[in-house]
Amino acid sequence: MFGQLSDKLQNAFKNLSRAGIIKESHIESALRDVRMALLESDVNLNVVRDFLNRIKERALGENIVGSNSPEQQFYKIVYDELVTTLGGKEQNLTFTGNPPHIILMVGLQGSGKTTSSAKLAQWWHKKGRHPYLVPADFARPAAVEQLKTLAKQIQMPFYESDIAKDVVKTVRDAVDKASDLGRDLVIVDTAGRLHVDETLMDELKRIKEKPTESSLLFGRKALPVTVLFVADAMTGQEAITVAKKFHDELQINGVILTKMDGDAKGGAALSIQAVAGCPIYYVGMGEKISDFDLFYPDRLVSRLLDRGDMMSLIEKAQEAIDPEFAEGMVDKFKKGGFDLEDFRQQLKQMKKLGSMSSIMSFLPGAKQISKNVDMDKMEVELKRKEAIINSMTLQERRRPDVLNGQRRNRIALGSGTTVAEINRFMKEFNEMKKMMDGFSKGGLGSLTKIKSMLGM
Ligand code: GDP
Repeated sequence: MFGQLSDKLQNAFKNLSRAGIIKESHIESALRDVRMALLESDVNLNVVRDFLNRIKERALGENIVGSNSPEQQFYKIVYDELVTTLGGKEQNLTFTGNPPHIILMVGLQGSGKTTSSAKLAQWWHKKGRHPYLVPADFARPAAVEQLKTLAKQIQMPFYESDIAKDVVKTVRDAVDKASDLGRDLVIVDTAGRLHVDETLMDELKRIKEKPTESSLLFGRKALPVTVLFVADAMTGQEAITVAKKFHDELQINGVILTKMDGDAKGGAALSIQAVAGCPIYYVGMGEKISDFDLFYPDRLVSRLLDRGDMMSLIEKAQEAIDPEFAEGMVDKFKKGGFDLEDFRQQLKQMKKLGSMSSIMSFLPGAKQISKNVDMDKMEVELKRKEAIINSMTLQERRRPDVLNGQRRNRIALGSGTTVAEINRFMKEFNEMKKMMDGFSKGGLGSLTKIKSMLGM
C-alpha cells in the first residue's frame, strides 16, 4: 500500500537524521523531499501546499532546529499532519430519523460499487442492522446478477430487480418492500458510467429526491437518503475530479475508498476529503466480502510510515480465529503436548488471516523486512510443509515418533517432496515443540533460550 510514498517519506526522515546539528536549511530540504514524495504520489497540489505549510509552521515553532532527536520530532509532526489530512479520527455513518435508511452507492463503472454494496451490507449486518440490497445498476446488466449472487452468498435479502423496468420506479418499489419486510437499511447499487454524464446524474437525482411512494409511509416528507461515493484508490486524482462532479450534482455524504490492497499511490486517499469536503467512511481492501472496514486514518499513516498496524491485525485475528480453537491452544501451552495435528490446525487458522505477505504487512518494519525476505519463497515453503503434514495419517500427526523410514518414503511420495525435506521439517518441528513444551513447564529457561536465539 502506498509503497513509493512510504519509501520517499522514510528517505526524508533518514536524510534529516544524517544531518547532525539541524539548521533551518535542513528542515527546508526535508520539506522539499516530502513535497516531491506527495506530488509524485498524485496528491492534489492545494492539499500538498496546505500540508507543508502546517508542517513547516510546527517544525519551526517546536524548535526542531538544534534539538537532540530532530528526525523523531519531524516524524511526529508529519505523522500528526498526515492523520489530520486524512480526516483525523475514524468516522461512521449515523442514522437519524425513522428507518428504513437509504444508502445510494454512486460512482464510476468499475470503481467497486456492486462489491462494496454487498460488503457494506454484511458489515452493518454484523453490527446488528437489517440491510436490504437493491440492484439498480441497469447500465451494466451483469451488475444486477452480480449483486443478486453476492447477496445469496452472504444470505442477505435483496430486491428482484428487473432491468426491463424503469429504474427509479424499481428503487421506489424496493424501498417499500424493504419497509414491509421490516428492513432498516436499504443499500441501492446505482448505475455507473465510464464518465460522468447528464443522463446518469438526472437518474440519480430522481432516485434521491423521492425514494418512496408507499402509502405505508404516507405523510412522511422524505426518507433519509445518504449518498456514498465509491472511489477506486488506484485512480489517483482522477477520482477526486469525479467526486467533485458527483458532489456538485448530488451532495455526497461520504466516500468508500476501494482497492486499498493494491499498489495505489495514495493521491486519492490523501486528497479526496479536502477536495470533496466529506469524510472517507470505509475502505475496501480486497475482493472478498469481508475485506472491508471503517477507514482509520491513524492506522493507515502508521503503516505508511512503516510502524505497522497491530490493532487491525488483532481485530482480524479475533474475527477470523475460532475462539474454541484459541482456547484449546492456550490449554496446550499450559499443559504441553503440542503435536503435528495442532500445528496443522494452526496453519489452517492462520490462512484465514490472509497470505504471509498480507499478515507481514501489518507488522512494524514490514516494508524493510519485505525488502530482505523473499515472501513468495516463504509462501511456497509453507505450502510444502502443509503438503507434508496433510500426507500423514492422524495417528502420525498425533505421534510423530512412529515416523520410520518406510512411512517417511510414503509421505514424500504423497506430498511431492523428498525424504530429506521431511527429515528437515521434523527436526524444525521438534525444536519448536521443545520450545513450546518448555513454556508449558513454566521454565524461565525457555525464555532465556528464545532470547539467546534472537540474539537479545
Ligand atoms: P462496479 O462497476 O462499480 O459495480 O464495480 P465492481 O463492484 O464490479 O468491481 C469492479 C472490480 O473491482 C471487480 O473485479 C471487483 O472484484 C474489484 N474490487 C472491488 N473492490 C475491490 C477491493 O477493495 N480490492 C480489490 N482488489 N478489488 C476490488
